[in-house]
Amino acid sequence: ERTYLIGGNWKCNGTTESLTALIKEFNELGPIPANVEVAICAPDIYIPLLGEKLRDDIAIGAQNCGVNEKQGAYTGEICADQLIDAGVVWVIIGHSERREGFVMAGEDEMLCAKKLKVALDKGLKVMFAIGEKKEEREAGTTMEVCAKQLAPAAELLNEEDWANVAIAYEPVWAIGTGLTATPEMAQETHASIREWVAEHVSADVAKAVRIQYGGSMKGANAKDLLAQPDIDGGLIGGASLKADFFNVINGAP
Ligand code: 13P
Repeated sequence: ERTYLIGGNWKCNGTTESLTALIKEFNELGPIPANVEVAICAPDIYIPLLGEKLRDDIAIGAQNCGVNEKQGAYTGEICADQLIDAGVVWVIIGHSERREGFVMAGEDEMLCAKKLKVALDKGLKVMFAIGEKKEEREAGTTMEVCAKQLAPAAELLNEEDWANVAIAYEPVWAIGTGLTATPEMAQETHASIREWVAEHVSADVAKAVRIQYGGSMKGANAKDLLAQPDIDGGLIGGASLKADFFNVINGAP
């Protein structure tokens, strides 16, 4: 049986003051169900704040990790060893907001896969994000896109590596838009992703790997999404910045 994995992705939000208040609010909310694992992925500079103040039953996460295997002359990068040193357990790699690129060139499939491998080799757990854009869904190529994003990862990883990977399926058109995939739509893609893993990695990994849904997930829709057989958790943006995050956590069956 797979335990649920609920990740909060705070993205580039918050100040010391606002996040201290949010952590305090989270600390006072009820217990986390035994079948749910929770992690919060904060902006790097607030990771020590989480280490100091956040309840112990929520793991600390980061939102990115350098591809460099060692410390050194990589101005502006933070590497896996440093994340671990700061108390990080989970890291998101391949989020669409990084694949697409903002001020710098986007991260391509191979770079994401290399980062994934480096992070795993160093001892981090990874939420590996994939998903199609609106045009791609409309063109009927959703699974092709997901497969293209997964393929280099399947190539670089050993079977044992997969024990520390969760796949975060985040349809890009559902991120921050209020448009959630329907539970049926998400289930269909999650099942296809699991089938792909069975075919290209192994049946055992396909059975064990957790596939999270991400994209406008919140308390009001979490229960129906998490009730689907192949939806094993969520990766939550906007709603993870509010007490509603706990309604998502408590939405697990
Ligand atoms: P929203 O929940 O704000 O749509 O963001 C989802 C996401 O990108 C999580 O990584």
